[in-house]
Amino acid sequence: MNQEQRNILYRIAICLVLAAGAFLAPGPRWLEIALFALAYLVAGADVLWKALRNIVRGDIFDEHFLMSVATIGAGILGEYPEAVAVMLFYQVGELFQDIAVERSRRSIASLMDIRPDHANIENADGSLTAVKPEDVPAGSIIVVRPGEKIPLDGTVESGHASLDTSALTGESMPREVGENDLVASGCLDMTGLLRIRTSGTYGESTVAKILRLVENAETGKAKTEKFITRFAKTYTPLVTAAAVLLATVPPLLAGGAWTTWIERALIFLVISCPCALVVSVPLSFFAGIGGASRHGILVKGSHYLEMLARLKTVVFDKTGTLTKGDFSVTAVYPQGIAPEELLALAATAEIHSDHPVALSLRKAYGKPVDPSRTSETSNFAGEGIRAVVAGKTVYAGNEKLMKRAGVHPETHQNGLEEGTIVQVAVDGRYMGHIVISDSVKEESAQAVGLLRKAGIEHIVMLTGDRPEVARKVAGSLGITEYHARLLPAEKVEYVTAAAKRQRPGRTLAFVGDGINDAPVLKTADVGIAMGAAGSQAAIEAADVVLLDDNPLKVALGVKISRATLAIVKQNIVLAIGIKLAMLVLGAAGVAGMWEAVFADVGVTVMAVLNALRALRIK
Ligand code: ADP
Ligand code: MG
Repeated sequence: MNQEQRNILYRIAICLVLAAGAFLAPGPRWLEIALFALAYLVAGADVLWKALRNIVRGDIFDEHFLMSVATIGAGILGEYPEAVAVMLFYQVGELFQDIAVERSRRSIASLMDIRPDHANIENADGSLTAVKPEDVPAGSIIVVRPGEKIPLDGTVESGHASLDTSALTGESMPREVGENDLVASGCLDMTGLLRIRTSGTYGESTVAKILRLVENAETGKAKTEKFITRFAKTYTPLVTAAAVLLATVPPLLAGGAWTTWIERALIFLVISCPCALVVSVPLSFFAGIGGASRHGILVKGSHYLEMLARLKTVVFDKTGTLTKGDFSVTAVYPQGIAPEELLALAATAEIHSDHPVALSLRKAYGKPVDPSRTSETSNFAGEGIRAVVAGKTVYAGNEKLMKRAGVHPETHQNGLEEGTIVQVAVDGRYMGHIVISDSVKEESAQAVGLLRKAGIEHIVMLTGDRPEVARKVAGSLGITEYHARLLPAEKVEYVTAAAKRQRPGRTLAFVGDGINDAPVLKTADVGIAMGAAGSQAAIEAADVVLLDDNPLKVALGVKISRATLAIVKQNIVLAIGIKLAMLVLGAAGVAGMWEAVFADVGVTVMAVLNALRALRIK
């Protein structure tokens, strides 16, 4: 419990003691009234204050206004215990709701363990100074000792270590890193001393990006949520008008007793307080977001939870999404140079790229590459890379890139064309090609199956790779629609057209790793990114980030979103249903002030408890 919640609790306790005193004290009548008045103020001063403040702002009709009018009215009629009870139970409801919000927030924040507390900067003389991660300039050398978190993104200058990446990815397999490897902030160094050259400031780091994302998780409001806010705005003036009519019409027209009808009008006001609805709908969404985050699924707002629930089309990117993106070299076909030289050339040209193909070529080469030999790197998304290595212009990529380089590759027809082919050209001369092959993630086939079972009608795979590779991957996963040899812009075109073809109210998701496909993530109704360490663009462009790169989480996300929306609907029906029934009973004089208070708190508590179920969907 935090300080604010403890304060509410103290106020509830003091109010109870004072009210009990007023009931039990055999003192004079004025003392009893004074004690009730005190109890009332202890419980409700902030409600009165908020009502007043909103009236001054011209924003008259809200729950605080309803509570204030109803309780002051009850006081004037001499119903002191009732007035105190309304305020008291209102605070109980508030406390409840506060704790619930906090619990949801905490489960999102457990991801927050990734926040580093310090960085060790290496000074010119080799000594270390511990500073805040925010104070480390880009390009500094920092030292990470075993047991410490990597505070900023960068490249390993020297040292070897295995990293625990589970905070970022949920994956427990340690990752081995050594010289020239890219490392992401938020990973835990478990074994060795690492000297790292930082690639940017803390604000640009993976950790800072994830933290920002989590903090803003509440901003994208769902349609249902916006509707409830609008509903409350028109609803409150309406019930206030109804209460005024209820207080005045029967006495004026039918000769009823003024006190009876004013009291009924006040009861009517208490009952009509839309708390349960106003509170529980955003809370349900928030709990749903919290529940998803427990499974490493970060949803950037309730709006996207709502969109996930209505998914009918899921478009997957191939490399790094359905496949591991961890290619191994299966064959090298050099032309005029040694195989080892061709591999060295490709690895050196790819030194500044973080594309899966580039990472794999560097790994296959295995030897450290001097990054200063490579300059003027340009990335052609969906094609490959051009770089100047020791004064020579090197192209490494697919056939499209070779056209750009002005060479005609001669690919051998020897049964190995199943893999992805990296062609290499130097200064306008074709140097040969490297065949690399990727493997499908273990979970991919099951992910496709689960999505089908969940009623997703269209499952599509897009790739910039060759049709032969695409056919094989799609076939092994049971995906019938696939499109190969696409540039990122063509993926955007496909997604735009596919989204247009859908019936209204249905949504399309694109799932990608963010490398070369950030624009596609932005285009889709729901952009889902494989957000594991490395692909920063993805975390920014996407609406949903899967921290552990597991395609199964797409289906889990859909399940959580649907369950959350079901809870939202239950809460709306519950709140409105009970309110309507009580309003009728109150107006008819069957339900009194006490019933009204209990109904209000009861519905709120029930709705809050129901909302919290969204935290535990599995
Ligand atoms: P996918 O659509 O499967 O995610 P991309 O659009 O990222 O793949 O890339 C499409 C193709 O472009 C790759 O299969 C590869 O042939 C080529 N390519 C892209 N980037 C590189 C690179 N850095 N080095 C070599 N080839 C690359
Ligand atoms: Mg890709």
